[in-house]
Amino acid sequence: MTIKQIIPYQILDSRGEPTLMVQMSSENGKTAKFAVPAGASLGKTEAVEKRDGEGPYGGLGVLHCIEAINTVITPKFIGYPLDQLEDFDELLIALDGSERKENLGANTLLALSGAYLKLSALEKNQPLWQYISEHNNTSPEFPQLFATIVGGGKHAPGLDIQEYMIVPQNTNPDIATQTIYDVYHTIRTVMENLYGPSATLVGDEGGLAPIGTSTEVILEALSQLNGKVQSKFDIALDAAANSFYKDGLYTIETQSLHASDLFKLYQGWDSKFNLYSIEDPFAEDDLEGTEIIKNMAGKPKPFLVVADDYTTTNKSRIEEMQKDTLFDGIVIKPNQVGTFTETFAAIAAARASKAKVIISHRSGETTDSLLADLAYGVGAMGLKLGAPIRGERVAKYNRLLEIAADLDSNQRQSPVGSRVISPSATAKTGSAPAGTSTPQLPPSTPPVAYKPPVSPIVQPQPVAPAAPTTAAQPTSSLVPPS
Ligand code: PEP
Ligand code: MG
Repeated sequence: MTIKQIIPYQILDSRGEPTLMVQMSSENGKTAKFAVPAGASLGKTEAVEKRDGEGPYGGLGVLHCIEAINTVITPKFIGYPLDQLEDFDELLIALDGSERKENLGANTLLALSGAYLKLSALEKNQPLWQYISEHNNTSPEFPQLFATIVGGGKHAPGLDIQEYMIVPQNTNPDIATQTIYDVYHTIRTVMENLYGPSATLVGDEGGLAPIGTSTEVILEALSQLNGKVQSKFDIALDAAANSFYKDGLYTIETQSLHASDLFKLYQGWDSKFNLYSIEDPFAEDDLEGTEIIKNMAGKPKPFLVVADDYTTTNKSRIEEMQKDTLFDGIVIKPNQVGTFTETFAAIAAARASKAKVIISHRSGETTDSLLADLAYGVGAMGLKLGAPIRGERVAKYNRLLEIAADLDSNQRQSPVGSRVISPSATAKTGSAPAGTSTPQLPPSTPPVAYKPPVSPIVQPQPVAPAAPTTAAQPTSSLVPPS
């Protein structure tokens, strides 16, 4: 089967900025679409996203990308066979001809690569995750969800740390999603009680965006909920430290710190709140910070150190940095590199270095749910997917729930012992029973009492009439039906 038609067009992403969508059709009339996300906190070595630089949408348009597709790319690919992703991507990379895809744009290449990948799966009548898994020879497994509860940094005003995430230990999508829902809505009430109604506004990833708070307050609130929701969870941060680093100093919550003092701050948070991981704890070009990470390599660490801006989904960078096994986890974002073939190579390189693979959305997302298939199909340890609100974030949660439901229904239709697919919808470190097709959810949790913390950095400023000493009382709608 071959490609019959390629239609590129401009749509808006979740920040309301233009992005590129490609619709690709096969000879027999099947059609797939893929739309490209965009980051706000960028690694310096990310592949280049091409924008018009002038004209409509304040120059953020992608009309030049569309023109390049119509004039340079499409003529080469009409009649091109499907199910040849590596050759297809190689030809795209050659047409661009630059190291970081600055000629045609990484967004141009990724829109085509994604549409081609999806159309190839459709042609084989396979769910996308299965096609991805067979292509990469990987075992499908549900990832642990890294869910943004509170946002800051380049995604929201109010906090310097970019993402305060919870990571349910149970990988069953139903249980993980309910856990995230309960934590998110309880924290929303807590923030509203402490800082007033504006604290329920959200940042780019749907994380709450309270003003006048501090990391201690957020971590304290999150840690008080552990054990009171469906699944135990860990707490993870994405510091995205590039965004609060300047001239050798990190400016964070009114302090100006060298890398060594920032590390002490992290250690203090970890000793109180037991952090699971910190992503991009230092700026990528801060040698002092890199030295601290190097010195930790091979020794027991207080928390996992995760790379995003350091490695930018680039196989060579991952291999280079992992010679010294610098990172315990590596974030994978397809648009940092520009094609899915290179994304798969980065995943393989991360795995070969024994790092945990964490597939990630971008802060400027689309409603495409490919990432859920990717994370499940390659059996990634983690999937960063934002808060459980807003269409572009919820699309990824819902796709995982859909995959789980499909697997569950397939299993129910197959005689016992003849399962074709094992969903592995079980906890990696949690306590769900292995192979359970219909999760037995624990009974609903009572509203969670929250004790306001004493923060050494910023004291919460209560907003009248709510008193900070009063336990937060989530409404009964927060409690899922049992
Ligand atoms: C991140 O830094 O991990 C992230 C998702 O944000 P952005 O897309 O802005 O890089
Ligand atoms: Mg990051």
